[in-house]
Amino acid sequence: MSSENTEAFPILSAADLALVEDHGVRRSIDVGDYLFRQGEQTNDFYAVLSGAVEIVVHADGTDRVITRHGPGRFVGELNLVTGLRVFVSARVVEPGEVVVLSRQALQHLLATETRLSDVILRAFMARRALLLSSAAASLRLVGSRFSPETRRIREYLTRSRVPHEWLNPDEDPSIEALLQTSGLDPGDLPVVCTGETVLRRVTAGSLAEYLGLTVANLPSRIFDLVIAGGGPAGLAAAVYGASEGLRTLVLDMVAVGGQAGSSSRIENYFGFPTGISGDELTQRALVQAEKFGAHLTSPCAAASLREEGGHLVVRLSDGSDVVRLTNNPAIDTMGGWSPDGNRIVFTSTRDGNARIYVMNADGTSPARLTSGPGQDVTPEWSSDGKKIVFSSTRNGNFEIYLMSADGTNQTRLTNNPAIDILPDIY
Ligand SMILES: Cc1cc2nc3c(=O)[nH]c(=O)nc-3n(C[C@H](O)[C@H](O)[C@H](O)COP(=O)(O)OP(=O)(O)OC[C@H]3O[C@@H](n4cnc5c(N)ncnc54)[C@H](O)[C@@H]3O)c2cc1C
Repeated sequence: MSSENTEAFPILSAADLALVEDHGVRRSIDVGDYLFRQGEQTNDFYAVLSGAVEIVVHADGTDRVITRHGPGRFVGELNLVTGLRVFVSARVVEPGEVVVLSRQALQHLLATETRLSDVILRAFMARRALLLSSAAASLRLVGSRFSPETRRIREYLTRSRVPHEWLNPDEDPSIEALLQTSGLDPGDLPVVCTGETVLRRVTAGSLAEYLGLTVANLPSRIFDLVIAGGGPAGLAAAVYGASEGLRTLVLDMVAVGGQAGSSSRIENYFGFPTGISGDELTQRALVQAEKFGAHLTSPCAAASLREEGGHLVVRLSDGSDVVRLTNNPAIDTMGGWSPDGNRIVFTSTRDGNARIYVMNADGTSPARLTSGPGQDVTPEWSSDGKKIVFSSTRNGNFEIYLMSADGTNQTRLTNNPAIDILPDIY
């Protein structure tokens, strides 16, 4: 096995599998089951406890096996971080058991288990590099080199590192015959074929929407921080914003990476003494930002900014809006949704010290829940919506506190000379 394959396909130890299981659920698998199929919009992570799963690409009527995951291996790649549709299928070839983690549970694991997070994210990046060639047949773009839209789609797919093949009818006359047998004609170009799906007269925007990478695929359009432009500057802002707990969105009118994405070697970037390709720098930054929960969407241009009812509203080029919810000279940060999606809990310094506040999901009626000495930070809602857990220095160093969702019954849960911070309720 080459060193690249060792990085792409690590074997998790029993201790690591136990950690994964803490965040997911165990499920039995049978021969013939599919964990997911090519083209599906699915973002679950699977660790194999026993049995075996093959990763296959379906193209031209046949299945080509890319790899086989046995006990200790895990199924998944960068799409689990970016939200992209899967371009391979995972089928069970030996019965056994897997642990399944939702995308959210995986994000929690990546944020809390640093060593395991390094192993998983390195494998995801190495797998995408392998898939760029081995799974290229999973998405075929047919279009002339003289078509501006074809050029835009090619740039978009390449900069977004989506495995694909480009078939150019100007150079290969057999492609026209192939189009006819599929019931397509030159007026349908550019065409994208992926799995059983055929997208006619496709644009970079409609393809991105199908792949799951546009604002249409966002769970919500309300953010603390909206960044227009996903070049090195925008991506750096996203890493810092998201790592500080801000709900962060990056919009790029072409594709994430900016000018740096087209640089073959950058020699003068801080921290890379031997240089790094723009492509790799972009991918690392993208994974880093998304690991902290930032959303990255493209192609999507920010057209204007206005203030409405105390909120900043970014209008997109398609005429729709995304809202930056708070607009206050103080720091409003570490927002989290109530389980019913109606309210948001957050930390704010608007009254001096950091305090816990709640507001309605549209930003109205902010109300302070905590007061007194010290800093109150990192609030999280319980899954039944009745309690909020947070960290506070009100008695010296950081300890974990619990209160009812209306701010009453504040109780200290820990009392330790060490720092106890970042609580979460399951
Ligand atoms: C071929 C090449 C090689 C290079 N090599 C080097 C090098 O070796 N060393 C070096 O220091 N620099 C190099 N550079 C320059 C470096 O890439 C830039 O300085 C750097 O990318 C600037 O980063 P940025 O984030 O400020 O802007 P950009 O990289 O320009 O990114 C801006 C992004 O914003 C997006 N955008 C613009 N308007 C909107 C809007 N309204 N809504 C949404 N998105 C929008 C754009 O699509 C773009 O992706 C190179 C540039 C190129 C083209």
